[in-house]
Amino acid sequence: MATALTITTIRDLGNFEKLPKEEKTFLTKGLKNRSLFPALPEPDEDDWLSSHSEMKQSQDSWWQRFQSFISPVREKKKNIYLVPLGEKWTTSEVELDKTGTKESFLSLLQRFASVFFTGFQVVVLPSVSIAKLKCKTRRHHGHKQLLIPDIYKYLQSKWPSDAFCVVGITMMDLYPRESWNYVFGQALPSAGVGVFSFARYDPLFHEEDRAKVVSSNTSTLVLWRSCKVMAHEICHLFALQHCVFFSCAMNGSNHLEESNNRPMFTCPICLHKLKSRFAFNMKERYQAMLEFCSSVEDENFQGATIWLQKAIEKLS
Ligand SMILES: [Zn+2]
Ligand SMILES: [Zn+2]
Repeated sequence: MATALTITTIRDLGNFEKLPKEEKTFLTKGLKNRSLFPALPEPDEDDWLSSHSEMKQSQDSWWQRFQSFISPVREKKKNIYLVPLGEKWTTSEVELDKTGTKESFLSLLQRFASVFFTGFQVVVLPSVSIAKLKCKTRRHHGHKQLLIPDIYKYLQSKWPSDAFCVVGITMMDLYPRESWNYVFGQALPSAGVGVFSFARYDPLFHEEDRAKVVSSNTSTLVLWRSCKVMAHEICHLFALQHCVFFSCAMNGSNHLEESNNRPMFTCPICLHKLKSRFAFNMKERYQAMLEFCSSVEDENFQGATIWLQKAIEKLS
């Protein structure tokens, strides 16, 4: 087993002297607060860390990686662009509560990304049909799949001048090259492009009765999984690597159950990296996340709400 479970020390947090007092305390005490930031569980044999050797990425090593990957010109840009690929799913709505309040899935993703990456603007561009994308496709176990390098080419050709990154999102399955079965997504931090699919987060993905799959609604479970994977993948574009310090939004994942168990929130080490880039006020950001999560009647979002209330209390 090639695990790199490591002891976390205050040095991994880097220099936090300039932070406001309550944020400093939140980060340093957070390193020992197992109810807010649980330890990384021992991996099972099919889990990510059993087959991937991950190094710990301290604040300082993250910043070195950021500077070596991201050009000084792009470093100053403050827009994250989301490009929906394929068209049918983009009108899908999510029923948020029992009174029937609905909101478009895309608008919810945009709102979640806007609070997770507080300090940046998240813009959803018009959706692009697969024909317009001009990307190679194939059928794999009954699912139409899109070839990732072709998607990168398209995204780079449409690069807005104020973009930090341009990310394709889709409900279609993806493959990176012929020899692979599929991937959930991929990101190229040096180019600022990424693409990820929510297809396999839908419990109906393996449904053989295709009539059931054609639904105009997206479940809150798919929204929950999609918000988390989107935040994780965009963090990769900001040069964050997988986290081996704590149970964290930046943990690697090999399968759906592992992704499900991954928290929505980052550990203190990864939070400080985000703070350095986005310059948000931690408490205000958590309050905005709380507002988002508490508007969705779903057990996962309610769990996130409880976590956020505890975190906000610590920052007060
Ligand atoms: Zn990852
Ligand atoms: Zn972390």
